[in-house]
Amino acid sequence: MDATLLSLARDAPGFMPEQEGLALHDAALRAARRGPLLEIGSYCGKSTVYLGAAARACGSVVFTVDHHRGSEENQPGELYHDGRFDDPHTGGVDTLPCFRRTITVAGLDDCVIAVIGRSAAVARHWGTPLGLVFIDGGHTDSAAQSDYEGWAPHLAGGGLLVIHDVFADPAAGGQAPYRVWVRALGSGAFREESRCGSLQVLRRVGDGI
Ligand code: SAH
Ligand code: MG
Repeated sequence: MDATLLSLARDAPGFMPEQEGLALHDAALRAARRGPLLEIGSYCGKSTVYLGAAARACGSVVFTVDHHRGSEENQPGELYHDGRFDDPHTGGVDTLPCFRRTITVAGLDDCVIAVIGRSAAVARHWGTPLGLVFIDGGHTDSAAQSDYEGWAPHLAGGGLLVIHDVFADPAAGGQAPYRVWVRALGSGAFREESRCGSLQVLRRVGDGI
């Protein structure tokens, strides 16, 4: 991956270890010929830079969906709250200014398209078949399952479904993304492609999602 972009991804606030980010980048390079890339969970653009670098290299684009108000664990008082993103007007958080800065400094404004809204509402009105769907949004069961239900049907045949924070061992992390991974494999519509740490890559091989 482009050295300047890699260094910007490393420095951006967020939750994407470098090796997993590089695996995401690699998956995106393989998937881009089948359709545009789509991410759920932009936060401050860290994972988006890995995807955007691939989109740029392939002449494609990445849509990245987030309401930018943070997940449960990002709210004031919670474990992953970061006071830099407090929004004095709402008493909550707003990661959109930081996200925009990350993408503009990276020079990726032409191939990263931010979609500001709730994942389920955007999915309901989506129409374009996607080369890759990256699920890294809310980590409650209802958020993670609805991301799967809303977005997996939009994957083109042969497209890649990438899920972050998949931990088989409950002691290692929350189980919602793991349960999505189990469900996707159990549907028969996906087969395992590769994995890196908690980043799981599945390939769409059929319907019946
Ligand atoms: N991919 C990021 C981390 C994402 S954190 C990185 O690499 O650092 C999860 C993000 O999902 C948060 O920014 C939160 O606002 C967003 N999110 C949670 N639930 C959502 C929903 N239902 N719709 C849209 N975005 C959501
Ligand atoms: Mg994550």
